[in-house]
Amino acid sequence: MGNDFLPVQRDALTNLFSRSHFLYAVAQAMPNAPTVSILLVNLDRFRMVNEHFSYADGDMVLRETAQRISTAIPMSATASRLCADEFAVALTDVDKDGAEAVAERVRLAIAEPHHIAGTEVIVTASVGIATGSHPQATAEQLLRQADAAVRCAKQLGSNQVRTDCARPPRELPPLMVETMLRHALRNRDLQIYYQPKVHAKSMQVVGAEALCRWRHPELGDIPPHAFIPIAESSDLILPIDEYVLRAVCEQGSTWLKQGYRVRTSVNISSRQFLQPSFPHLVEQALAESGLEPSLLELEITERTAMYDVERAVHILTKLRQIGVRIAIDDFGVGYSSLNYLMQFPVHTLKIDRSFTAGIQSAVNQTPIIGAIISLAKSLNLSVVAEGVETVQQFDFLRDSKCDEIQGYLFGAPVPPTSFQLSAFIATLQPRHPHFVPDDAHNLERFSEREWLDTVLTNVRRRPRLHELTSYLADAIVEHVPLDRLSLEFAENGAAFSAVHEVSLRDDVPARPVGTLIPVANSGLAFVQRTKQPVMCVDILHNPEFDDDYGLAAEGIQSVIRAPLLRGNRVFGTLNVQSTLERVYTEADRKRLQRTAERLSDALYAAYQDARQPVSHLYDAKTKLYHRAFLVELLTADAPSAWLSQAVQRPFSEWTTATAVVVSIANHENMDLLEGEQAVAYIGQCWSTHAVPNAVAIRMGANEVLVLAFDQPSLSVTHFLHQLRSHIQLLNVRADRLGDASQRLEVYTGQATGDWRAFWRVYADAREQALALQRANG
Ligand code: C2E
Ligand code: MG
Ligand code: MG
Repeated sequence: MGNDFLPVQRDALTNLFSRSHFLYAVAQAMPNAPTVSILLVNLDRFRMVNEHFSYADGDMVLRETAQRISTAIPMSATASRLCADEFAVALTDVDKDGAEAVAERVRLAIAEPHHIAGTEVIVTASVGIATGSHPQATAEQLLRQADAAVRCAKQLGSNQVRTDCARPPRELPPLMVETMLRHALRNRDLQIYYQPKVHAKSMQVVGAEALCRWRHPELGDIPPHAFIPIAESSDLILPIDEYVLRAVCEQGSTWLKQGYRVRTSVNISSRQFLQPSFPHLVEQALAESGLEPSLLELEITERTAMYDVERAVHILTKLRQIGVRIAIDDFGVGYSSLNYLMQFPVHTLKIDRSFTAGIQSAVNQTPIIGAIISLAKSLNLSVVAEGVETVQQFDFLRDSKCDEIQGYLFGAPVPPTSFQLSAFIATLQPRHPHFVPDDAHNLERFSEREWLDTVLTNVRRRPRLHELTSYLADAIVEHVPLDRLSLEFAENGAAFSAVHEVSLRDDVPARPVGTLIPVANSGLAFVQRTKQPVMCVDILHNPEFDDDYGLAAEGIQSVIRAPLLRGNRVFGTLNVQSTLERVYTEADRKRLQRTAERLSDALYAAYQDARQPVSHLYDAKTKLYHRAFLVELLTADAPSAWLSQAVQRPFSEWTTATAVVVSIANHENMDLLEGEQAVAYIGQCWSTHAVPNAVAIRMGANEVLVLAFDQPSLSVTHFLHQLRSHIQLLNVRADRLGDASQRLEVYTGQATGDWRAFWRVYADAREQALALQRANG
């Protein structure tokens, strides 16, 4: 799974791949591997090792575990430590059974005893497996599934291997599944995915099939075959079908309002179909949503239609009168005779996917497909082929005059937002009508200006950054394709920037609002230098910045970063990101630049608003925080999180604090301006020698406090050393000039102690400084 251009990032403790590198490597390998399995290995009760022994012993166990995993897996596998006590392995050339065998080997190797402080300690592991292949599954999805499987393993008592969690429902007693399903319905854990149907001749998306997914909070995603049959054996299928029908009508109607006509089909169980009230339900769902009946298609299986032919004909006729379309699903595997078929008032036949799969198989199925298509044509029905996965299958079907194609070749079932993006926006549909090419007519240009005016008004109305970011994503996606939008803000020269990100797709993660990332690694540093937008159309093959590797690992392939300017200074970037390769054009780049230009001031204001809680506590002249800042910090619920946000630099949690008090002794002999300059001098010195895990606060007219967290001694000492030599220099200069008023008499004191007893620590440090001052004069 190696690749030749990515600098390998490794976990310092175990020397395994880092999480981001692992995801990147898997994403790279997936298109070329028939299947990929991810094993997620989570140590059981590992915390107890740290608690009973030491952190060093804990580290030793982790290193040893990494070692054992590496020897238990095949050479071609990729291993990573994802975080704390969680490891992952990607396998590319073994099948599902093979993956289970490897997982078992890993589990046994880990369970061998460790020797800690003269005792034998056994640390077991729970292993979750997810298997999938490109493009139906992404690395992230597999990891999520494997994660669900691990949680499943833990629930079932730890120290075991679980494959996908779709299994338990079938293993569980049907009654229990039924109960869980009832909960799911109530909690809206049933979600509807959409799979595109493509017109064979034009290759345009013309419709979608709605397919139900059960997202179980612990067991993960459960596919329909694991629960629909159980639901069908009870009445539970009735509310499920009703729920799906209503939701699909709502979605179809929303799309219609947005200008997209998508004919969507819904699977109807035979129980539901045979309910006397069913046609009425359909009418109701249509009326309540306002969907055009012709945009709704009902799929019933051949078996359902054949169960009671007379009744079926009666119901189908009613449905036809309502104006909905009807398709016979899984056609060819049932027993409908031609005679009956001619009686059914239906529109479409869907060729069962077992026939499609047979197109290239040893048992040639092509004559049957040819026969079904010509039968359909003679009855004036349209034909859809299901399960199309290869180009050969597609070619054969199109040449055989099959009308529509459905299958992984054109897209797996996906959530509605993703469907919308992939089906209408990014590829097949023309872009939004007021999308304006650059050399467009003036009149059309005007419409972009109008659009920008509207966006600006809305941005000004929504000062809160997270709302604003999601509004921007929705607004901009109408003109520039995007799957994720982010705003990145950084003070001039700051080492970290704050990221505000929104993803429009369920399968693309977004960082928590306000995440701090190093500026040096991101495209922002480059944009700050050049003040120009940068565009990378193919991150996967031509990453430009360190940041890009992380983006690629998350499935992003193209980005545009546009500068947000305040005067001549870049205070951030507006970024659009797409999972499609080469999707952005020069026109997009320019449009985003114009958008960023127009919104810069409003975005700056929103950014400052977000920082408001502390920006008024900072004195830009002296580069020091006010005393009130300390009070806020001391009373914050989560001090480290509060401080990270406040100073836009990451701080990890601390237990001890070091206080350094810097006091200017001759301050009272200075006039106001000189006094302020003296304090600013210390602030200046602080900002050039700033200690990473510390902040500087002005405690009084002549006193500065440097507050450092957890083991800062060396860096604090360095700062104090620098401060003293600066002041010495200043004083030598003052003496040479013969101007005693320019001398600075500074005394310092330092103390370390429990953060919870901060005022004590501070008082100690202050007392030291004052004692020195008293001793000297
Ligand atoms: P179906 O109606 O025949 O749906 C097509 C199935 O084929 C879907 O499986 C779809 O994901 C899968 N498929 C699509 N393209 C390909 C491909 O290229 N290769 C392969 N191997 N498979 C492909 P899914 O989503 O697992 O659904 C299975 C069945 O569950 C459906 O078969 C349908 O009978 C039933 N079902 C799904 N959702 C609902 C629902 O909301 N209500 C009812 N009553 N039944 C549902
Ligand atoms: Mg179907
Ligand atoms: Mg089917």
